[in-house]
Amino acid sequence: MKRALQTATLLLIAASFLLHWKLAAEAGSLRQDTAVLQLRLICQQRDAEALRQQLAAPPAGSGETRATTAPSGSPTQAEQVRARELLEREVEQVRGLKFLQPLVYRSMKSAEFKNFLVKKIREEYTPAEVRDYSRSLAMIGLVPEGVDFEARVMEVMDEQVAAFYDQDKGELYTFTDSPLTGNLNRMILAHEMTHALQDQHYHIQRWPLKRKDDDDLVSAHMAVLEGDATVTMQDIYKRALHWKTALADLQTALAQDMGKLARAPRYFRDMLLFPYQEGRAFIEELQRIGGPALVDRAFQKPPTSTAQILHPEKFYPKRQEPAPAEPEVKTEPGWRRLESNVVGEFGVIVLLRQYGHETDAAAIAEGWRGDRYAAFEAAGGDGWLFWRSIWASEAAAKRFANAYRDVVTRRNVRRQPAVTLELKQNGSRVDVALRTPPATSETGTAPARKQ
Ligand SMILES: [Zn+2]
Repeated sequence: MKRALQTATLLLIAASFLLHWKLAAEAGSLRQDTAVLQLRLICQQRDAEALRQQLAAPPAGSGETRATTAPSGSPTQAEQVRARELLEREVEQVRGLKFLQPLVYRSMKSAEFKNFLVKKIREEYTPAEVRDYSRSLAMIGLVPEGVDFEARVMEVMDEQVAAFYDQDKGELYTFTDSPLTGNLNRMILAHEMTHALQDQHYHIQRWPLKRKDDDDLVSAHMAVLEGDATVTMQDIYKRALHWKTALADLQTALAQDMGKLARAPRYFRDMLLFPYQEGRAFIEELQRIGGPALVDRAFQKPPTSTAQILHPEKFYPKRQEPAPAEPEVKTEPGWRRLESNVVGEFGVIVLLRQYGHETDAAAIAEGWRGDRYAAFEAAGGDGWLFWRSIWASEAAAKRFANAYRDVVTRRNVRRQPAVTLELKQNGSRVDVALRTPPATSETGTAPARKQ
């Protein structure tokens, strides 16, 4: 499911970035010569308008979108293509890489996106696999029990995706009825163009983004991709910045409907935002300490854990790879294996924050060195979780053990029949064996039994 989340460019990011910039500008850290800016702004607005028109019109030679009538005086097709080319050159310059092949542009109507996404998910996951995965996450405590994982992911994606780069085909998609205008369009296009550059230079198809047994590794790889694209997007935006447009853009971004994202289970929201927010901070830190060469290194040999993203010193100068961890599994005949996966440092943060550890979650999770869990379903429908984690020290293991006991106690306040926990802490190792009664769905009814 990580990969389904990965296709998006988030308006929310645009909003949070603009807000961030606004604060920075107020602090006076981004002063530029006003006259030059005014001049650039005029050029920029012309480009942006051309781009907007380009997005509203069907691409040349494509029969897949309904033709829209362009207002009189709008730029010609040639002008629109020119505007896109200009932006491509700008992205090349800012990112320091050149397109090796011409970028293919496609467009679709927003209404078509849901089907497109379902198809993408179905290429990799059966509905049963999605259910097993979401039940496993619920056993740990990461998502509410019985959550309709796929439906919730769809909702959020449908609301938040403004454009995307299809890695499988190497094509950049926009929406014909996109509500975005001006600089926001430029930012989002620049972000997606950066993904195309990454793909052409670093062969993202070969990255282990489709691995189903190490979410932590997938998140770390995604943070490199999204962090880099977000930094490029933000640099392009800063080049053409004007105070008034920035405020207008901020308003546009904030006016986007984010209700579904706001109402989504916290795990979805945090996991969705992680590659953009923490990835951006990670890439900026690499740029600061080692320049483009170090960013290049992150693409040549990407980080393998969210711990490395959160603490760049665990990536450079010396990589700290996750400690191997295999849970001790005790199963009985007739049990079915649902999942084997890694929670990771960021996953632990998200988990603890949901259960009363808002302020010390990051400090506790910082001691993470490695983990793996295996989840099973017993013949009668009970869920079993075996989870081993390795910590930096005995003290760090103890802190996590206490916090996790807390998580289960708090869960049991809400849940009847209760979850039973057996937790052993031995030196720097914590072993969890947890039994959960059959899950109930979000609406409170038991889901149909599956075999
Ligand atoms: Zn992206």
